[in-house]
Amino acid sequence: MPHIATTNPTTGQVLKTYEAMSTEQLDAAIERADLAYRQLRETTVDKRARWMNAAADLLDAERDEIARIMTTEMGKTFVAAQAEVTKCATAARFYADRAPGFLADQPADAAAVKATRAFIRYQPIGVVLAVMPWNFPLWQVMRFAAPALMAGNTGLLKHASNVPQTALLLEDVFRRAGFPEGAFTTVLVGSDAVERILADPRVRAATLTGSEAAGRSIAQIAGRELKKTVLELGGSDPFVVMPSADVDRAAEVATTARCQNNGQSCIAAKRFIVHTDVFDAFAEKFAANMAALRVGDPMDPDTDVGPLASERGRDEVHAQVRDAADQGATVLCGGELPTGDGWYYPPTVVTDLTPEMRMWSEEVFGPVAGLYRVSSYSEAIEVANGTSFGLGSNAWTRDTAEQERFATDLDAGNVFINGMTTSYPELPFGGVKNSGYGRELSELGMREFCNTKTVWVGEGAASAGAGAHAE
Ligand code: NAP
Repeated sequence: MPHIATTNPTTGQVLKTYEAMSTEQLDAAIERADLAYRQLRETTVDKRARWMNAAADLLDAERDEIARIMTTEMGKTFVAAQAEVTKCATAARFYADRAPGFLADQPADAAAVKATRAFIRYQPIGVVLAVMPWNFPLWQVMRFAAPALMAGNTGLLKHASNVPQTALLLEDVFRRAGFPEGAFTTVLVGSDAVERILADPRVRAATLTGSEAAGRSIAQIAGRELKKTVLELGGSDPFVVMPSADVDRAAEVATTARCQNNGQSCIAAKRFIVHTDVFDAFAEKFAANMAALRVGDPMDPDTDVGPLASERGRDEVHAQVRDAADQGATVLCGGELPTGDGWYYPPTVVTDLTPEMRMWSEEVFGPVAGLYRVSSYSEAIEVANGTSFGLGSNAWTRDTAEQERFATDLDAGNVFINGMTTSYPELPFGGVKNSGYGRELSELGMREFCNTKTVWVGEGAASAGAGAHAE
């Protein structure tokens, strides 16, 4: 049986457990989602926008209670959890406001295709399965749910097994906001149930945010079932610092970029690739900043870094650091497993890494930075791109010609120059290589789960498409 439970990472105590849905209950949930889709697709976008705005208002009004649950379930600081709830409300309003434009018919060149009228119409596709991770338990879901529901799809959420309360709470928010029963449903099941859901003919597509292993598994099933997927997978983002950079500022932002969300973010900068001219200055400041972060109770507003979400996750991070240290890497700060309750891990900086060490090629999902010395732009690009991942990337340089080169040469779904990677409802988000495919957010995220329908209208007198190839 899957273990679906809230376990407080500050104590390791199991606070609440849930029984997984039976096959019959799951089937009924899919049926409700399918019926709700038939209802939702007949509603106007304005009506859906009213419901989405109401959901945003509920998130704002209940921010602190929602944030407390998130902190209790996965250990992010309460301050970060509050900000996450606010960001979700912002995204909900963004899609409520912008969906009418994103979904509006888009005219095409009618004369070129020998039509009297030709246009593209965006329509919903049906029930979409969302398999989501625990690290941003509200935001990851909202950035799928807001565009999907606004487009007229319905969502089935299979959330990570350690954040069931957050998952149920979001279902409740959408219901109270006015969306029809079944428009957004949390299914309390383990990952073993994903195949059954995705194979169901009533489920038309899936989106997964999570690990590479989960991505491969879902893509395989979806391939067999001929269903569309969007995959947002892991990352080991480079953070390149060049000689013209503001090194103090870069070292400051690097600390946040690595340790936000207790170091458990897919778009955290993980590999710090620093030009030799500024390496020593950067390394000293960065290690000092990392060591100065306050690790402790995530409910305390003075805490910078709370516990990792699970004991297994912390063991994995520590094993990656030990593997590097045992093979000759230098640990500039941190690296010691704390004693006492809670799955805390100290901010850690490791340098002198070599390709045989796990940290060189694996994603480290905790507050641990790898620091690399390079002696040229081309070496920086080689190290930055020398990974199987390609999610985000960062480059620090005040040289505008170099900024242009980084924007082109970094092999990633986004490039942030003189800043840290973050997500905005206005900008597309996603990766290349083993970081996945497809895009979330912006109008592109909404259209991933739309039927982009070509509409061609002839005069009506002659036979349709006369003169064109019938294909
Ligand atoms: P995970 O183990 O892959 O879990 C993510 C979700 O997938 C959970 O709901 C999990 O369910 C489910 N799952 C796991 N294995 C599965 C399988 N074989 N088939 C179907 N579903 C499966 O990942 P995680 O440890 O929670 O999250 C961390 C990973 O997510 C990191 O690699 C991180 O970089 C990535 N991530 C990526 C993004 C992005 O936008 N690209 C954002 C955030 C996180 P259970 O909990 O029931 O196992």
